[in-house]
Amino acid sequence: MDQRLLNLIRDEVRQLSAYHVPPSDGMVKLDAMENPYRLPDDLLEQLKQSIASIDINRYPDPAAKELTDRLSDAMDVPEGMATLLGNGSDEIIQILAMALAKPGATILSFEPGFVMYRMIALFTGMTYEGVPLTPTFEIDLDATLDAIEKLQPAIIFIAYPNNPTGNLFSDDVIGQILEKAPGFVVIDEAYQPFAISSYMPGLKEHDNLLVMRTVSKMGLAGLRLGLLAGKPEYIEQFNKVRLPYNINVFTQTVAELVLENQNVLQEQATMIRNERERMFFELSNIPDVQAYPSQANFILFRVLNSVAADVHARLIEQSILIKNMNASDGLLANCLRVTVGTPEENSVFLDALTAALK
Ligand SMILES: *Cc1c(COP(=O)(O)O)cnc(C)c1O
Repeated sequence: MDQRLLNLIRDEVRQLSAYHVPPSDGMVKLDAMENPYRLPDDLLEQLKQSIASIDINRYPDPAAKELTDRLSDAMDVPEGMATLLGNGSDEIIQILAMALAKPGATILSFEPGFVMYRMIALFTGMTYEGVPLTPTFEIDLDATLDAIEKLQPAIIFIAYPNNPTGNLFSDDVIGQILEKAPGFVVIDEAYQPFAISSYMPGLKEHDNLLVMRTVSKMGLAGLRLGLLAGKPEYIEQFNKVRLPYNINVFTQTVAELVLENQNVLQEQATMIRNERERMFFELSNIPDVQAYPSQANFILFRVLNSVAADVHARLIEQSILIKNMNASDGLLANCLRVTVGTPEENSVFLDALTAALK
């Protein structure tokens, strides 16, 4: 190993620890906001046939025309708006950052929030500012408007609902941010299938608004496919930074077919929303647990008389994997996040949690 070679790598990259995915073999996996349901057998059978007919010797359609139309339709992109597809919405965040990373340009978002905004700012040499949420996980409007004034962010990311807190921020507050922001505002609607509202219709009213969606949380996490919608003049520029064949042939083919049968995913989302309400009710009935209401497919909760790391470890002993959110960040002290699974998985989790708190 040659230290000189390592020294060529940017300091901020060497200082990072690699993105950690915990082992989950044989576990009840409730840590990553995945949809727990598989596709029905008849649809899987059709998928097999579509996949067998793919020309894998050819490059994919660079514009993914058919898929774009189908996704735009499924996600209610308003007439007159343009879209850009990404290899997951993570790639869309990266595309936006690459396009906006002038020296000194800033990404603003909120903490606790989705970690990729901060990571991608670092990868692209942008400045990241995370404005702390209030103790009830609302946006602190005064602090945010001050930060906007001071930093003039090129882009603001608002996860709606927020990850890891699960709540939708106030529309009044978002409206004021849209009005005062000097740059783009991305509403990241990764959890929209489980929420009661969306900013997609708002694209017509706000010039600086971009709306981002993904198929990951609605049951197709393995495909890696996200969508950004906004005014054509902006999307056209962002599209120049996108690598030409970023959506591979398998993703295009499978997503098209599944979206033709969108009712399957919608029924699954309905089951997940119903189970979320049951889990919230049951968690709220455990005396040592404070659960936070969620519009997503996960629930954040705090353990009041235990240490989150201990509870997390005792659940692993019972083969259940959730996420320990207890960070140095004071707002999430002793918090854990559980993804809503099947009714059976959720019941197993609730029993195990009760046992782990004793
Ligand atoms: C999971 C998540 C994403 C990432 O979605 P992919 O499309 O799988 O890359 C984006 N934003 C938020 C807030 C998320 O929680």
